[in-house]
Order: sequence, then structure tokens, then C-alpha cells
Amino acid sequence: MDLSKAALLGGHSFPRSFYNSAGPNVGSAIMLALSQQARLRPSISILEGHKLKSLEVQGGTVVGVNSVKVAERDGQGMWRAVDVAEQSLELVACDAVVLATGGFAANKELLRLHSPVAAGLATTNGPSAQGEGLAIAQAVGAEVVHLDQVQVLCVRSPVLAFSNMACCRTLSLILAP
Ligand SMILES: Cc1cc2nc3c(=O)[nH]c(=O)nc-3n(C[C@H](O)[C@H](O)[C@H](O)COP(=O)(O)OP(=O)(O)OC[C@H]3O[C@@H](n4cnc5c(N)ncnc54)[C@H](O)[C@@H]3O)c2cc1C
Repeated sequence: MDLSKAALLGGHSFPRSFYNSAGPNVGSAIMLALSQQARLRPSISILEGHKLKSLEVQGGTVVGVNSVKVAERDGQGMWRAVDVAEQSLELVACDAVVLATGGFAANKELLRLHSPVAAGLATTNGPSAQGEGLAIAQAVGAEVVHLDQVQVLCVRSPVLAFSNMACCRTLSLILAP
């Protein structure tokens, strides 16, 4: 990627967001490269189409994750939803868990609780930003921090007719020892 060009974005006092002017988008290029590299390594197992449901705890220690299959690829490689009621929980045992399930800017209930001002704004986050990992971690006693720190961008959209967007920081939590 050619990252020689920097753009001046909202809140910047000088151009400092480097982008690939010839495409693709930097974020998707990083994700694609990481995903390709992960798939090349037999020591890494990837469970696609699975939704995290809970953390498995034994004696006060997290020893795995429970997930359920929610989607699978069809013959053409396209994703299709599966009947979750027919699926059973799958336990993946592990020594450590890193939750990377994103923030909660699409969850009005959590926004009202932690950042009432942001709850009244539209969001640029996708519908998956529900804070599910947060709730799952809290359910096993995780300590959470900085949930009131919601990033708000002032943006006007003549098409969508909103003048502000709320977009959440990513999940902040400290797993209880
Ligand atoms: C419109 C917009 C523009 C942005 N532009 C920039 C930018 O230019 N530069 C920049 O640095 N940052 C940008 N950001 C911020 C950046 O996208 C986020 O900070 C980043 O994506 C957060 O990464 P994450 O991995 O923590 O969470 P996410 O990228 O939100 O990933 C979380 C993933 O977890 C999945 N998930 C959620 N719950 C479950 C569950 N129960 N089981 C399984 N999976 C689950 C979700 O489907 C999702 O795929 C932008 C954000 C938005 C909304």
C-alpha cells in the first residue's frame, strides 16, 4: 500500500491520517492480510459463523468460551443463517480469553445507562455494536472501566437528515483476577 498521503480529518489541526489513495481501504487491507496469515498457520483454529454466548468459569478462573453457530457458508461460499434453536453450545477450552467484540454505540439501552447524551444521537456504528462481550464479561464478574467515554463526532448528512453521530470507543474492561 502507498501510505505516503495524509488527510486532514475532523478534529485534526494538521493532516495526520495516512490513507492508501489507490485503494483498497487501509482497514480492510489489514484485516485481509491478517486473516490470510492466520489461515496459513495450522496452530490457529478459526470458528467462523459463531456467536460468543458466555465465558466458561471454573473455580473463579475463565477456562474457555461457549459459542453457538449462527451462520454457515452455502455451496457458493455465501453466508446463510442457521436455525439457532437446533444448535448446541460449543465449548472452546483455553488458558486465556481476549474479548474483541467491539463497543456498544448501537445499543440505546447501554448508552442511556452510561452516556445519556450520546443516547439521543444517531450512530455510525454497525448493528453488531451491542456491547455483548461487555455483558458476557460482566456476567462472570469482570470489572469495567471508562464506559462513559463515548466519542461523538459532529457531522451533517443532507441525505440522512441527521446532524450528529455518536460512535463508541471500543470495549474497556478489566477481567477480575
Ligand atoms: C464510521 C466509522 C468510521 C471509522 N473510521 C476510522 C478510521 O478512519 N480510523 C480508525 O482508526 N478508526 C476508525 N473507526 C473506529 C474503528 O472502526 C474502531 O475503533 C474499530 O473497528 C474497533 O475495533 P474492534 O475490533 O474493537 O471492534 P469491531 O471492529 O467493532 O469488531 C467487533 C467484532 O465482534 C463481533 N461481535 C460482536 N459481538 C459478538 C459476539 N457475541 N460473538 C461473536 N462476535 C461478536 C462484531 O460482529 C464485530 O465483527 C471508525 C468507526 C466508524 C463507526
